Amino acid sequence: MTLAAGKSPTSGGVATRLAFFKGLQAITTRIHATHNIDEIIFELSADLCELFGAERLTIYTVDDARNAIVSKVKMGLHKVNSIRLPISENSIAGYVAYAKKMLNIPDVYDEAALRAISPHLEFRKEVDEVTGYHSKQMLVAPIVSNEKGELEGVLQLINSVDGQPFTPIAEEGLLGLAQTLGVAFAQRTKAPAAPRSRYDLLVTEAKITREELDAATRKARERKVPTEEVLIEDMGLGQEEIGQAVATFFNVKYEPFHSDRIKPVDLLVNIKREFVEQSHWLPLEENEEGVVIMATDPEQIRASRVAHNVFPNKNIVIRATTVREFRKTVDQFFEASLDMGSVDDLLSDLVEDEQDSSMAEELSAAADNELVKLVNKVIVDAYKQGASDIHIEPRPGKEKTLIRFRKDGTLVPYIEVPASYRNPLVTRIKIMCDLDISERRKPQDGKIKFRKYSPLDIELRVATLPTAGGLEDVVMRILANSEPIPLDKLGLTENNLSRLMSAITKPYGIFFVCGPTGSGKTTTLHSILGHINTPDTKIWTAEDPVEITQKGLRQVQVNRKAGLDFATMMRAFLRADPDVIMVGEMRDHETVAVGLEASLTGHLVFSTLHTNSAPESIVRLLDMGMDPFNFADALLGVLAQRLAKRLCPKCKAAYHPDVAEMSNLLDEYCLDLQMTTPFKEDADAARKAVAKQWQTTYADKQGQFTFYKPVGCDDCTKGYRGRVGLHELMLGTDDTKKRIQERARVAELLALALEEGMRTLRQDGIEKVLAGITDMAQVRKVCVR
Ligand SMILES: [Zn+2]
Repeated sequence: MTLAAGKSPTSGGVATRLAFFKGLQAITTRIHATHNIDEIIFELSADLCELFGAERLTIYTVDDARNAIVSKVKMGLHKVNSIRLPISENSIAGYVAYAKKMLNIPDVYDEAALRAISPHLEFRKEVDEVTGYHSKQMLVAPIVSNEKGELEGVLQLINSVDGQPFTPIAEEGLLGLAQTLGVAFAQRTKAPAAPRSRYDLLVTEAKITREELDAATRKARERKVPTEEVLIEDMGLGQEEIGQAVATFFNVKYEPFHSDRIKPVDLLVNIKREFVEQSHWLPLEENEEGVVIMATDPEQIRASRVAHNVFPNKNIVIRATTVREFRKTVDQFFEASLDMGSVDDLLSDLVEDEQDSSMAEELSAAADNELVKLVNKVIVDAYKQGASDIHIEPRPGKEKTLIRFRKDGTLVPYIEVPASYRNPLVTRIKIMCDLDISERRKPQDGKIKFRKYSPLDIELRVATLPTAGGLEDVVMRILANSEPIPLDKLGLTENNLSRLMSAITKPYGIFFVCGPTGSGKTTTLHSILGHINTPDTKIWTAEDPVEITQKGLRQVQVNRKAGLDFATMMRAFLRADPDVIMVGEMRDHETVAVGLEASLTGHLVFSTLHTNSAPESIVRLLDMGMDPFNFADALLGVLAQRLAKRLCPKCKAAYHPDVAEMSNLLDEYCLDLQMTTPFKEDADAARKAVAKQWQTTYADKQGQFTFYKPVGCDDCTKGYRGRVGLHELMLGTDDTKKRIQERARVAELLALALEEGMRTLRQDGIEKVLAGITDMAQVRKVCVR
């Protein structure tokens, strides 16, 4: 642009004036060259702002019903909904549309000045309030078509860059621009050759009338569905006709849904389903033309340049598609196809074979199309149902092979497979993970990269075990490539969350998460890492296996066969300039020692332990031979954790516990507090204090508590759905450090931690019962001593 950026045409010098109008002329020429209103808005907004020295520009067009103006929003750049204003004296832009007069307002918050223009004129402060943007100067002009003087829209400049009122030169320029746009808008909307909506081809090709299209658009708006849904469902139009119309409108090729499309794994590496669904574009393939992209609104993708940012230095080929076909393709790429048929159908397709078969026959049976489909279906179903493991349990003789899923920690039967298929079934799975199919007497383990067999991108860790009668069991663990859960979504109480935050944001030290297998330790560690994962931090992790991946982390998979154990990796990390190190687990003296050393040399170290409680972990580590002084120095904290089943929020039944139940619960809670000073001094008073605390936190206005019982519905398993973490967080406080140096016993450490505000796992569980999240049976189940 010819005018210096940030300088509004205020100084009034001849040179400025000339430069301004020369710039305006260039834009006018470009307006004449564009094809539709959206293109004008998308391509020229930034240049216009610069030319006029304005911070923002809004272009309104007249609504179809002609009683309101609607702002055209540049999608994808900032998330502002379009603004709709009645053509009336009640708003600034509305007034300009109503009176067809230009307004130049030095300060829109100056109510007296507005009232001098019209007694009804008001500035709508809501938008500023929502966006946090402060509007001041406004220069607003009506866009009127020349011939009939009909209103086409409104052009609004907001806030001058230099903070001064918009100048007469700006006024003159804006009027000229409004005229140009008036002509352009009138031409683009009225000329039949230039479609104004993406479905206009349907009208020009006489598949529907203009009135029908308008009616469909209105109906779609009422039902809040895409217009094409109404066109297909109510008016019987074909998907392809609509796709062609959309493509013609955007002047690109139409890209239909193809059921046999192969998922472009390489292009989708860093792209998540949510992103695709929100941004409405999807890469399909890379060919000699470039990266081919499917979009429901090619203009938007082009304008936002988002695809160019995702695939820098690549040619982007945008193709148009319908909303339906877009969604189907997203499903196809991000989820296993749904049309696999039911598992029962697949089972009935398996041919019963009475004879015990030879290896050759088994191999051919394992390659049997129906069996292949069945195995895929089992895996897909397990994944969709949120199962963590698949158990395949062949039984001797003619008994069927049982397949069970572990969901939320409990095994549930899934299907039974005919006895004759037990060997081919196991063989098929072994083939999928490259195990030795002839070896049946030794346990084997391997890994399935499932995306080789299905659009579903997950990995499975497979373990086979020889069982009685020459059979083999198979257990598959689903390693969903999941993302970390935000720290505040882990189910920590407020107190624990703030204490945890304070511990993990220290510059160095060591922090442990402890609990038995399956207690969610890795999930918690990743949430913690997610919280401190910033671009200026180098985080190395050694994991076995890598189950959760995070951008920014450098994650290494442990490979004991190749000599890469935790201790070796940690030493390698220390040579690789880390800030933070996470080690999957610390089981032996050597790993702990290296970890301690790392934390004492200025690194933040995280790991897990297979211990039951937080105080016990400390004693265990000291027993492993750690120097108490070094260890006390380094210790940031220990978080013990369990997962308790969560009551299904849909079907759980509320009840008020009676006095006896409350009293038992209180006893159970206070049991852990017996060693603390208040209980040693006056147990009764201390118990009452806890009861009072519960009253204020959890009881309703009548002083009643509400508990829940499990019921069971279609959405859950026996009244439970998902799990909630129970936590016991012990911090490395000064007093704790001192006791560690004195080699205090577990009970002493526990009493001290409780006095300092720690809650035991059971107490945390009881608080979650009081909060209605779970029930006591589940808490007791995971908090056994
Ligand atoms: Zn339920």
